[in-house]
Amino acid sequence: MYTPGIFQLVSFLIGLLFGSFLNVCISRLPRHESVVTPRSRCPECGKPIRWYDNFPILSWILLRGRCRDCKTSITWRYPVVELSVGIWFWITTSTFLSNFSRIHDFGGRLSIEDAPRVIAALLIAILGFLLIGLMVMDWQTMILPNAFTIGGIVVALFLVCIQAIFLAPGEDEVHLTKHSLHLTSPGGVTDHGNLFLTGPESLIFGRIAAICGAALLLLVIRWLYKALRHREGMGLGDVKLIAMIAAFLGFWPAILSLFVGTFVAAGYGALLLARGKAGVTSKLAFGSFLCAGGLVAALYGNRLIDMYIAFLR
Ligand SMILES: [Zn+2]
Repeated sequence: MYTPGIFQLVSFLIGLLFGSFLNVCISRLPRHESVVTPRSRCPECGKPIRWYDNFPILSWILLRGRCRDCKTSITWRYPVVELSVGIWFWITTSTFLSNFSRIHDFGGRLSIEDAPRVIAALLIAILGFLLIGLMVMDWQTMILPNAFTIGGIVVALFLVCIQAIFLAPGEDEVHLTKHSLHLTSPGGVTDHGNLFLTGPESLIFGRIAAICGAALLLLVIRWLYKALRHREGMGLGDVKLIAMIAAFLGFWPAILSLFVGTFVAAGYGALLLARGKAGVTSKLAFGSFLCAGGLVAALYGNRLIDMYIAFLR
């Protein structure tokens, strides 16, 4: 029996656990420490955290945000990160289920034809996990660890390859016709012309091209900024970050992330300037804004890009 809402609730709880692990990554990765050993300790008194004090959110509330041993306050970052990943997993599952019911009735059971949709949902869930972590790490330390950016690209490419295995016959094929390149969808009956790329080829090569294209674009922007302003505008971490977003979502959503991120960063910068809290040369954690843009693109990317194309017509 399938009860509506149970999958969302379960993914929320799983999200809380992943959020708890993400907190460990956020504290340790920028310092090049292992995320596996040793066990979590209080940064102040060094006492290991007891298992019953390690429940996401709940423990923080019960302890009133303080260490049980030395009473040093524990930053609110911990429950917020846990809650964010929980909510992200909840949203991903809800979107997956609502897309799903449009295709066939979901009785709580999956079949092999659903594999591409499951992988697509998995990609969004993992991307959110990585972006929330990178957002906090860049904000606090100005470091975007390779374990998350390069690691994310590897994970995304691996999943896209698996997605390619499950493509329907003819899906995503690229054909050379007299007039133009032509993308097919399953069940298309028009004359296709010569086969140029098979579905799996176009999916995998397309994603690799998206990664290279997005990285190259940011490298050019970085170089232009350096040439014009004679100082470093963004780090290589930002370049790897945009490449990672492209690996998960494709080229145009990555550009959308860049657009949204730049827009929000500019607004935030203007606010700081107006309040006299920053000068024109102050450093901004641009990666954090890119991450925020990436989260927006992951949730609304396709809808916003469709709206934009419709607007151009
Ligand atoms: Zn302590």
